[in-house]
Amino acid sequence: MVARWQNNSLHTTTRRCTANRISGSEVTFMSNRLQHSLSPTKKTKLNRLSKRASYQRCIIYQILDEGLFCHVGFIDSNYPVVIPMAYGRRDNNLYIHGSAASRILRTASKAQVCLTVTLLDGLVLARSAFHHSMNYRSVVVFGAASALKESGQKLSALRAISEHIMPGRWQDVRKPNNVELRQTLVLRLRLTEASAKIRTGPPVDEDEDYRLPVWAGEVPISLLARPPVADPQLRAEIVTPDYVKKVTLRPPSPAIRI
Ligand SMILES: Cc1cc2nc3c(=O)[nH]c(=O)nc-3n(C[C@H](O)[C@H](O)[C@H](O)COP(=O)(O)OP(=O)(O)OC[C@H]3O[C@@H](n4cnc5c(N)ncnc54)[C@H](O)[C@@H]3O)c2cc1C
Repeated sequence: MVARWQNNSLHTTTRRCTANRISGSEVTFMSNRLQHSLSPTKKTKLNRLSKRASYQRCIIYQILDEGLFCHVGFIDSNYPVVIPMAYGRRDNNLYIHGSAASRILRTASKAQVCLTVTLLDGLVLARSAFHHSMNYRSVVVFGAASALKESGQKLSALRAISEHIMPGRWQDVRKPNNVELRQTLVLRLRLTEASAKIRTGPPVDEDEDYRLPVWAGEVPISLLARPPVADPQLRAEIVTPDYVKKVTLRPPSPAIRI
């Protein structure tokens, strides 16, 4: 999946990340060697296939910046709910937003949430049914989401969400007025307890299965952006902005592929 947009000026940290194809063990090595790693906690310590884990902020940011939407899990009354939402990141904060009447935002603003982002990179077809897998890069974040109260903070967070989805858009559009701002709830989730998990590469079969006459390999998957379609009501003299044209069919980020 993921046709990625152009560089986003909000995502300065991402651009500082090394964009090399690296192996799973190298990810772990890099994570341990470099500064700016999050500490694994009881919740974020990977118990299964921990070599695929990374707590390096740079890697976590890259995955978050490439994703377009997240899933937010929370407890509503006595049952768990998971809802898809847009998001944005600025530095070490994630932002989600919606109607002030939205249940998730009302509930989540008083509660602990778990937010996930998943980039699907491929289907991994092994020789045995058991060893089939997927290549992916994903992030799981835990924390308390807090509602932003002050208008300036809300606007800044909304800009982060807008620029995350379509860099360059914010400068063109009419900004939210006071009424719209009041109707919008914006939550901030600090990136203090988070993990990344990454799988890349071919299937891993049992030794004896490599002899089987069965095709094995990876089917790469990426999100495709098609050419933009103008609103039928668009005034004739308005041309498509470059930042929309540039939502191109760029291949997924070459970074952190194992
Ligand atoms: C890609 C994507 C991005 C989105 N971005 C945002 C965003 O940034 N902000 C925002 O407020 N909303 C966003 N939405 C809509 C969001 O998923 C919810 O529908 C919305 O927030 C209302 O949630 P609620 O719990 O208040 O709705 P309620 O109406 O209270 O939900 C009641 C029930 O409706 C069903 N339901 C609600 N939403 C969905 C859904 N998306 N799919 C299937 N069933 C559903 C569930 O069974 C849920 O328990 C997005 C949806 C998608 C798919």
